[in-house]
Amino acid sequence: VSFISAADRIEIIEVGPRDGLQNESRVLSPDLRVELISRLVKAGLSSIEVGSFVKHDVIPQMAGTAEVFRGTSDLGISQRICLVPNLRGLEDALQAGVRHIAVFVAASESFNLANTNCSIEDGLRNAHDVAEAALEAGINVRGYVSTIAGCPYEGHVSLDKVVRVAKMLDSFGCYEISLGDTIGVGNPSEISRVLRAVADEVSVKKIAFHGHDTFGMGVANALSAVNEGVRRIDSSVGGLGGCPFGGPNAKGNIATEDIVYAMGVENIVGDIDLNSLVEISWWLSGYTGHEPRSLVAHALIRDK
Ligand code: MG
Repeated sequence: VSFISAADRIEIIEVGPRDGLQNESRVLSPDLRVELISRLVKAGLSSIEVGSFVKHDVIPQMAGTAEVFRGTSDLGISQRICLVPNLRGLEDALQAGVRHIAVFVAASESFNLANTNCSIEDGLRNAHDVAEAALEAGINVRGYVSTIAGCPYEGHVSLDKVVRVAKMLDSFGCYEISLGDTIGVGNPSEISRVLRAVADEVSVKKIAFHGHDTFGMGVANALSAVNEGVRRIDSSVGGLGGCPFGGPNAKGNIATEDIVYAMGVENIVGDIDLNSLVEISWWLSGYTGHEPRSLVAHALIRDK
């Protein structure tokens, strides 16, 4: 890709163990999630979203996150990010020794209501309180803006709404703002427009892109983000995940192996081993109950 030079570095934030598994129908045990993370580390990933401190009865997929966090302490992962929905979750995260948390707010009112049962304003207030308490405790805070390119209920989401939520999260002290096309409806020119608008207000160095593959645009959209100067991309091994409000056919996150294949030719993603990722994808499919969603995983399959 001509707009990336060999001197550039693209950092991949692997979100499969959290965002991916949280949206899979089968529940994986904490031990299995530790095994997954350990394999991802061996494949060369060093920023990994490892879990979420949510209520177990609401999201059983994330039960035992403290255990997963403990079990991955010695793997030398530079950033182990845990999602924290509220102050109660933050308490659990602090107790577990978490150093990187993520907070989230949608840019669309109806999505925020469906996802968290509160308005954008209340969501921002909550994110502010969690971020403030976390920063006081010396914890790094990542901010997610979801539905940046469309909402399952409202359809189009206006640019100023996305920019406003991103700016607020920035002002709360987030080290990074991950802009999420949560239901994967954006196309490259739309993603480009959103990123440009946000980058007018928030340093592009602090922006990450988080895409989904519903329309098969995940990699194209990520490249579009890179073209706008974004150097941090969220992805999920095997394209794990989905979106609970994106309809039955909403596909998962952009697959990590697809991103590595798209950008790895010049080694700009660092020392990540593509074949190992593909092996992990197929290994994991024995537990998720479905084949990897990544075309790269299918193209490079060796031992099924
Ligand atoms: Mg996602």
